[in-house]
Amino acid sequence: MKQRIVVKVGTSVLTEGTRRLNSARMVDLARQCAALHEAGHELILCTSGAMAAGREHLGYPDLPATVATKQMLAAVGQSRLMMMWERFFEIYGLTVGQILLTHGDVASRGRFLNAQDTLQALLAHRIIPIINENDAVATEEIKIGDNDNLSALVAVLADADLLILLTDQPGLFTADPREDPEAELIAEVSVIDDAIRALATGSRSGLGIGGMVTKLEAAVIARRAGIKVVIARGLEANVLPRIAAGEELGTRFVAPLTRARGTSPENRKRWILAGAVNTGHILVDEGAADALQHQGRSLLPAGVAAVKGTFDRGDTVSIHRHDVANASAGEEIARGIARYPSEDLERIKGSHSERIAEILGYTYGSAVVHRNDLILMRDA
Ligand code: GLU
Repeated sequence: MKQRIVVKVGTSVLTEGTRRLNSARMVDLARQCAALHEAGHELILCTSGAMAAGREHLGYPDLPATVATKQMLAAVGQSRLMMMWERFFEIYGLTVGQILLTHGDVASRGRFLNAQDTLQALLAHRIIPIINENDAVATEEIKIGDNDNLSALVAVLADADLLILLTDQPGLFTADPREDPEAELIAEVSVIDDAIRALATGSRSGLGIGGMVTKLEAAVIARRAGIKVVIARGLEANVLPRIAAGEELGTRFVAPLTRARGTSPENRKRWILAGAVNTGHILVDEGAADALQHQGRSLLPAGVAAVKGTFDRGDTVSIHRHDVANASAGEEIARGIARYPSEDLERIKGSHSERIAEILGYTYGSAVVHRNDLILMRDA
């Protein structure tokens, strides 16, 4: 089966743990991508290494650890990184196109569609899109922050079939393999539950290495869009063609949905998943959490226990279970578009929908977040 594949290559793979980008490694990855391309698959490469390339090119100057310094290193390094990829793909007769993204570029529906069109146009012309975060200008508010999450967002944007995260670890382990000889590689994850989350978040007892936390975040997002995810060791021989052929390498996350491109989930829901999430949260009670997760219902004001932060009508907000004991946000269960601004939701929370007009003097309807504007973030 021809697949659309997003490959994310971490800095640790490109440098093999040294201070220099390893050209031979990059050529080999370009060769593997070319083999997949030749076989009819569509490839998108998410590359890290801009800052590493900048540092290397400037001879490791002693610089203050400021945001401006990092942006400077990224500005110097990104063009060098791109120049290298361009040369290496050219060996295999392939043309590449660069896209630098921030969250701001997919925040509005219009910009999301625009970025999607660019990707489609490149793929339609058999050009390999090479993507990185626009580190030279990404401020805190619009930054994605790490390329694992960036690659998940790109996979959602591109409606990919498969996301491969290449790193310096063979995958997700039952414990830290450097400390625990009993640690075993987990070959397949079908449900991302608390036990799996604990493996990535535990510091010393758990995995706590190779950025597994962000890889798991990426897996959560991609899987919600029905995209398979594989975490594997980038130095493994011929890793990309082997994974694409279905060989059991690394840790596989099977997607909760069966899908046909462009159908499941619909594009607007994918935008909700990948677009900017307002920092505001809606905390819901157990009854509402169950109605959202298991009954496919809309969120009504009666189920809203608390409103955190500020958001406007139309913003994408994150819906969390209300952690009553700590009066705080529990696990994220869904994301969706708010139909009421936070200050008005504050006034109608806990009330029956019939009372909305009476309390606010207007109504946008009974739902706070309509089920058509909602995407679940957890396995049942
Ligand atoms: N965008 C960063 C870079 O190219 C890398 C971020 C990451 O590795 O997660 O240097």
